[in-house]
Amino acid sequence: MKIHDVVIVGGGHNGLACAGYLGRAGLDVLVLERKGMVGGSSVTEETWPGYQISSAAYVSSLMPPQVVSELELERFGYRVTILDPDYWVPYPDGTSLTLWGDVQKTAEEIARYSKKDAESYIEFDKYFARVGQMLKDLLFVIPPNLALRDLAQWLSLGGKVRHWSASEIAELVRLFTISGADFLDEWFEDDRVKGALGTQTIMGAWCGPMSPGSAYVLLHHWIGEINGHAGAWGWVHGGMGAVARSLADSARSAGATIREASPVHRVVVEGGRATGVELEDGSIVRARQVISNAHPVTTYLDLIGEENLSDDVLRSIRRYRTRSGSVKVNFGLGELPKPTAWKGATPGTPHMGILAISPSLEYLERAWDDAKYGRCSEHPYIEAIFPTAIEPGLAPEGKHIGLCFTQFGPYDLADGSWETEREVYGQSIIRTLDEYCPGFSDSVEHMEVLAPPDIEERFGLIGGSITQGEMAVDQMFCFRPIPGYADYRTPIDGLYMCGGGTHPGGGVTGVPGRNCARVVGNDRKWGRLKFWRR
Ligand SMILES: Cc1cc2nc3c(=O)[nH]c(=O)nc-3n(C[C@H](O)[C@H](O)[C@H](O)COP(=O)(O)OP(=O)(O)OC[C@H]3O[C@@H](n4cnc5c(N)ncnc54)[C@H](O)[C@@H]3O)c2cc1C
Repeated sequence: MKIHDVVIVGGGHNGLACAGYLGRAGLDVLVLERKGMVGGSSVTEETWPGYQISSAAYVSSLMPPQVVSELELERFGYRVTILDPDYWVPYPDGTSLTLWGDVQKTAEEIARYSKKDAESYIEFDKYFARVGQMLKDLLFVIPPNLALRDLAQWLSLGGKVRHWSASEIAELVRLFTISGADFLDEWFEDDRVKGALGTQTIMGAWCGPMSPGSAYVLLHHWIGEINGHAGAWGWVHGGMGAVARSLADSARSAGATIREASPVHRVVVEGGRATGVELEDGSIVRARQVISNAHPVTTYLDLIGEENLSDDVLRSIRRYRTRSGSVKVNFGLGELPKPTAWKGATPGTPHMGILAISPSLEYLERAWDDAKYGRCSEHPYIEAIFPTAIEPGLAPEGKHIGLCFTQFGPYDLADGSWETEREVYGQSIIRTLDEYCPGFSDSVEHMEVLAPPDIEERFGLIGGSITQGEMAVDQMFCFRPIPGYADYRTPIDGLYMCGGGTHPGGGVTGVPGRNCARVVGNDRKWGRLKFWRR
């Protein structure tokens, strides 16, 4: 039987990135994806005839330029247009605030509401550039475990970040622990400004802007950049499936083989070592090293199996938090929305960036209040993009697409079930958008509502957590996914992980895939000295 160098379980964008790196290192790599198409939650699907929908992920920012250039993604069709403005936020009184990519231009906008906030914004931007750089310093670091055997790695890490000052470290700790609302209150006075900036304190997270730790969510989004513009979001031409396609083509060009519709049932563990995988059809694929791109809970409990894990590890993985209240609502539209607060042409500023319904921090917190008691938000947070304003060919002639990322719809509802709530929630998004864009409801021709259980079922994201597990300080860096196994290795020799459930977490970044490839490559080169391991 053929023995591959590496088999990767899952063709999400990180599995594909990992395959691209390992292929370039000359290894014989096989990717096994359970679904009929690669990409995981970074896909473009023809949801209705003629409509190319980015069903889950919808904007790009977080993939570092190194990954794009090392994997030659532009050669394989990856092309991004910056969304500018970053955010366009309408208010109930018919006014609006535009957060541009350009700091000075945004400050001038903010000055219409508060001169003090406009000055603060310029400092705020510099602050995030500085603290965001600290996170970027850690992006490509293999997190050492909290163990004496990793002392050398901790010392090497200390060397890498020796330029961090004590006050910068204190800032980072504050951001990891305080609430987004407390943090924004320190900088700004106007509720509208705080509401517009507060959107990113809750995005994809199971918390409100007043929850401790939510300030970090804001920072996580600052690590991104598009074409050299820090913090910008971008539209990938062809939708998010084009990211996966370019990664897959890049991996294939480096010699990797990708097999779709090949669900893996379990990792074959022999003598404490992974020697391959068993597919659901019962066939066995042998490999010297196995990598899982699947969610950490799936990897540990389903693919490895409880019988192969110690009580300690089982306790850690069972308490890995992976909740979410994000609901994706995708629309096929007869026309682009016409916001009351926008007096210009269509398409215009509201359609070229992200349109966010987030009038104040209190609005966001009340949306969370509903969710924490098991109810869908009566007034949900919505951010919407209209890709056909940039790329009309994604929908039939004259038609449009609206992609809405919304919160909150809890996984577990206190009353009723998602079977009926899906339509009710979708209608509440339409109603909310109607308040700001009269006539929106008349333009809706198709609607798809993906609630947390749908996100779990369709994309394998347990609990609907869009980041393969919550991004909180106890689940980050040397604790992600679980203490003792943050270095992309697992308790099973020869089995590694490369998905968003590892450092630096979720988002379409390719970074876990890249970092994991380095660890796998190093272990092949040097072997693993058993006494160093647990
Ligand atoms: C609704 C939503 C909106 C989002 N919006 C954005 C956004 O706009 N921008 C952004 O940067 N990020 C966004 N994200 C997050 C981002 O999409 C994910 O963090 C990222 O795509 C995770 O990639 P991954 O490769 O690590 O894992 P995944 O995409 O989860 O891929 C895992 C792969 O493994 C496969 N798999 C699992 N089990 C098996 C098995 N047993 N056998 C074979 N294959 C298996 C799965 O089918 C899947 O293809 C969003 C996510 C969601 C759900």
